[in-house]
Amino acid sequence: MNTKALHKLGYGLYIVGSRKGKRFNGQVSNTVFQITSQPPTLAVSINKENLTHQFIRQSKVFSASILAKDTPLAFIGHFGFKSGRDIDKLKGINYIIGKTKAPVVTDHAVAYLEARLTQEVDVGTHTIFIGELVGAEVINEDEPLTYAYYHLVKRGTTPKTAPSYILEEEKKTSKMAKYKCTVCEYVYDPELGDPDGGIAPGTPFEKIPDDWVCPVCGAAKSEFEKIEE
Ligand code: FE
Repeated sequence: MNTKALHKLGYGLYIVGSRKGKRFNGQVSNTVFQITSQPPTLAVSINKENLTHQFIRQSKVFSASILAKDTPLAFIGHFGFKSGRDIDKLKGINYIIGKTKAPVVTDHAVAYLEARLTQEVDVGTHTIFIGELVGAEVINEDEPLTYAYYHLVKRGTTPKTAPSYILEEEKKTSKMAKYKCTVCEYVYDPELGDPDGGIAPGTPFEKIPDDWVCPVCGAAKSEFEKIEE
């Protein structure tokens, strides 16, 4: 059996929001999917250890914001590598209160969906929450982000067959070392820099200011290690 076959499944990337009383939370998920159209029904798979899991159980509602292809890594990292137990993840983020009174993140979203829980399925580490669609809007016509694009291009693990890799080869650029975040495995590629974090393309890792942090998880520069090629 080759479990790499699982990596060929296609997914998007979403911010799943919920509430517990007046407390709000949101997290990144790649497993939001429509399961029937009559009535329109959504499913989302959430890790039992996540705060959002607790919130959906309690309020029986959830929202899903469909992220745009150009969503900054830091935005995804904020919802993916931080816990709502430590910080208010929606502070400084644009969101609306939907029909379900759950928070619906609108920053970097091309559309959103809201559902009221009808069933839950215990699948061990995760619960699959199933809900009837009660709200949905298209925000803009930008291209949605896919999970594959996020992993292969945005996080720097670009395969040799990717157009971006070939382009770099053609440029015959100098061999500046790549560095990997030991916390989240984000790869800093000097050719790409970190424009969202104010680091211009072509900046060697060594020249990045010391107060720069990992754009995905927020780890300090000192948490990075050189990738030996
Ligand atoms: Fe990181």
